[in-house]
Amino acid sequence: MIAKTSNITFDVEAVRSEFPVLDRVIYENKPLVYFDSAASSQKPRIVANTVRDYYLNEHANIHRGVHFLSQEATNKYEEARKKVRDFINAAYDEEIIFTSGTTDGINLIAATFDKVHIKKGDEVIVTGMEHHSNLVPWQMMCERSGAVLKFVPVSDEGELILEEYEALLNDKTKLVAVSHVSNTLGTINPVAEMIKSAHGVGAQVLVDGAQSVPHMKIDVRDLDCDYYVFSGHKMYGPTGVGILYGKKELLNELPPYKGGGEMIKTVTLEKSTYNELPHKFEAGTPNIAGGIGLGAAIDFMLREDLTDAAEHENRVLEYCENRLQEEFSDIKIIGQAKEKTGAVSFLLGDIHPYDVGVLLDRLGIAVRTGHHCTQPLMNRFDITGTVRASFGMYNTTQEVDALIEGLKRAEKMLS
Ligand code: PMP
Repeated sequence: MIAKTSNITFDVEAVRSEFPVLDRVIYENKPLVYFDSAASSQKPRIVANTVRDYYLNEHANIHRGVHFLSQEATNKYEEARKKVRDFINAAYDEEIIFTSGTTDGINLIAATFDKVHIKKGDEVIVTGMEHHSNLVPWQMMCERSGAVLKFVPVSDEGELILEEYEALLNDKTKLVAVSHVSNTLGTINPVAEMIKSAHGVGAQVLVDGAQSVPHMKIDVRDLDCDYYVFSGHKMYGPTGVGILYGKKELLNELPPYKGGGEMIKTVTLEKSTYNELPHKFEAGTPNIAGGIGLGAAIDFMLREDLTDAAEHENRVLEYCENRLQEEFSDIKIIGQAKEKTGAVSFLLGDIHPYDVGVLLDRLGIAVRTGHHCTQPLMNRFDITGTVRASFGMYNTTQEVDALIEGLKRAEKMLS
C-alpha cells in the first residue's frame, strides 16, 4: 500500500459533484455505488461538455484543412497531444501516438516489432498476470515470427517473482511486456527495476499502463520505458481513444502499422513513402472528439493534487480490504501484494462470484465478476473468477460500508 498521511486536502464531495451519474438512484431507491472504474471510469462534466461543444460548434476534419474550423480543430487536437506529453513527461510531441485504446497500442507494437527486431528463436517475456490484451498480441507475434514466449510467474501473494524474471533474461530476450498495475489483483509491479534489468540484456520494454495512469503520476522518462500504453476511458476520458508513448528513435525504427491517408508522404500507384512521427502511425481520420476529450480529462485530473487523490483512493481501498477481513470469516482476498492500488478481488466463501455480483447489483452496487480478462491468472490461483471492487477518486468509505452490508445480505441469502 502506498504510504499515507492524514493531512490530505482532497475534497471527495467536490469531486463527486462533477460526476452527475453518481447522483443516480436505481432500482427501488438504491443510490448507485459505482465500484467498476477499472473496467471504465465515469466521466466528469468537463469531459462530456468538451466533447459536446466540439461536435456542436467546432467539428471539422483535422490536418491539411485550409479553412478556419479545420485549423481550430487541428489546434485543439494537437494541444491535447501536448497535454498528454506533459502529463506523462515525454520529451517530444511526436512520441505521443493517438490510438483507440490500450489494446490498439499493444497491437501496434506487436504487429510491427518483429519485422525489425525478431528472428526465429528470440525470446519475448510477459507475466502471468497480464490482461489478455497484453498477452494475445504477443502470442500472435511469436507464432508469426518463431519467437518463444516466456512467462514471469506470480507468487501466492499476487506479486511477480522477480528472481525468476531475472533468470529468464538473456541475450535472446528482445522484448518484455508487463502491466504497471494488475487490473485483477491491484498489484503495482516494480516496472522501473524490471526495465533496468531488461535494458541490461539489450531488450526493450512495453508497459501496459491501463490501470496505473488513473491512479498515479507517470513519468516515462524517469521509468525509462521504451513504450507505455493506456486508455482514455479508464482515466475519466472518452471511450475509443488511447495513447501509445514510444521513444522517438524506437518508433522511427518500426514500420507503419496501418496504411491509408495521413500516414503517407508521397503515393504513386506502385509505391508510397511514409510520413514522419506521429502521423506515420495515425492512418485515417482519428477520433478527434476523443483526443480533445482526453485533453479535458487531463485538465480535470490536474485540477486535483494527484498525490492527494491517489492517497484518498488508497485509503478507500485499504478501508475496504480491512473491513472485508474484519466482517467475514470466510473471505479470501486474491492478491495481497505489499504495493497495491485501484482494485480488490475476493471470494466470499464458496458463493459463486456471479451470484454475489447479481445480488449487489439489485442493491445498487456495481462490481465486476468473472475472470477480468486474465484467465491464466485465474488458472494460477485455481479459481474461475472473483468479485472485483475497483475505485476511482470519487469513491468513499461510506460506499464501502454499503458494499459490506450488501455482502452480508449475500452471505445470508446465498451460503
Ligand atoms: N490492460 C489492462 C491492465 C486493462 O485493465 C485493460 C482494460 N481492462 C486493458 C489492457 C485493455 O484496455 P482497453 O479495453 O481500453 O483497450
